[in-house]
Amino acid sequence: MNDHTFESVIGLEVHAQLLTQSKIFCGCSTRFGDKPNSHTCPVCLGMPGVLPVINRLVVEYGVMTALALHCEEVPPRSIFARKNYFYPDLPKGYQISQYESPLALRGYLEIPAGENRLRKIGITRVHLEEDAGKLVHGEGPESESSFVDLNRAGVPLMEIVSEPDLRTPEEAGEYLRRLTAILVYLGVCDGKMEEGSLRCDANVSIRRRGETALGVKTELKNMNSFKNVEKALAKEIERQIELVSKGKKVVQETLLWDPDNEVTLSMRGKEEAHD
Ligand code: ADP
Ligand code: MG
Ligand code: ZN
Repeated sequence: MNDHTFESVIGLEVHAQLLTQSKIFCGCSTRFGDKPNSHTCPVCLGMPGVLPVINRLVVEYGVMTALALHCEEVPPRSIFARKNYFYPDLPKGYQISQYESPLALRGYLEIPAGENRLRKIGITRVHLEEDAGKLVHGEGPESESSFVDLNRAGVPLMEIVSEPDLRTPEEAGEYLRRLTAILVYLGVCDGKMEEGSLRCDANVSIRRRGETALGVKTELKNMNSFKNVEKALAKEIERQIELVSKGKKVVQETLLWDPDNEVTLSMRGKEEAHD
């Protein structure tokens, strides 16, 4: 921000829903808005004994994106891993994702940096994974109940992780707009943040100007537009600067953006988020 004592450091994790007709590990349709649980099969329902088979187009879309983001490495072999967590929207009890051997590494994206110059923002990695299902909370006589719709379970996602190279909320917005333009141009994602087909988690910390070590970060979720990403970051940077100026410490945690009240709410500590 414009504070002359502190600067902010931002890294973004973007999840893009890929525009394939079928899911990532089975032949079920990815079509949105149909009757709950109408696009499911033993694979995406997580029945015992089934085996996932990768969707060729998902890999092609991933590689196209990796090349467009100038990734230095797209290894001939990448590996899927199980990310274990327990939640009713995840029938297998683990998400199939990539961890140690992602699809692509070390790319960059250029953003405007004044006076007709461009600045490179590093891309740490691009990897493929599956989406989870959706919980639908009942209303009226069903307000005591929650329902699970697994139509989205197994829809292909591509995660694009940036280096902590962004310095202001505006730069983060610029990065997001440019990234979205690339994905939409390639035809791999429709780029609609408002509809959740593009989601962004924003990691942010502050440090005294001139310092090179990174400060403790918080992670912001639930922003459903570019503008909200910028607003949430600006609010959070302000909060962190105020804390540190008072001699207090930033605690590592995940915060949820509340777009109606334009505030962030604490969701959970990071211990829980890590597995
Ligand atoms: P985690 O394991 O908590 O997900 P990672 O190291 O994988 O953390 O980083 C996730 C995202 O957070 C990346 O985009 C990265 O650039 C960014 N990031 C990491 N450390 C910081 C920090 N101290 N301040 C701001 N952003 C950070
Ligand atoms: Mg992360
Ligand atoms: Zn299926």
